Amino acid sequence: MFYVVVCPNCKTPRVIEDNVKNVTCFKCGKRLSTKHLRIFFKTDDLREARMALGLLNAKINGKEDEFTCIFKE
Ligand SMILES: [Zn+2]
Repeated sequence: MFYVVVCPNCKTPRVIEDNVKNVTCFKCGKRLSTKHLRIFFKTDDLREARMALGLLNAKINGKEDEFTCIFKE
């Protein structure tokens, strides 16, 4: 399973795998515990995860305050 998450520190979205416990943000270098990250999108398909990531990036670049509500469960 792949999750699309956003770094709470610098708002950079990324794709992680569900078995990963900790990641280091490649942009700001902050260490993130994945269980505390908000999951914007879940999928078994990496291509789909990347598409969601691209969409999220576009949303963030366009209107940052709206990005938290584009993927509601
Ligand atoms: Zn970051």
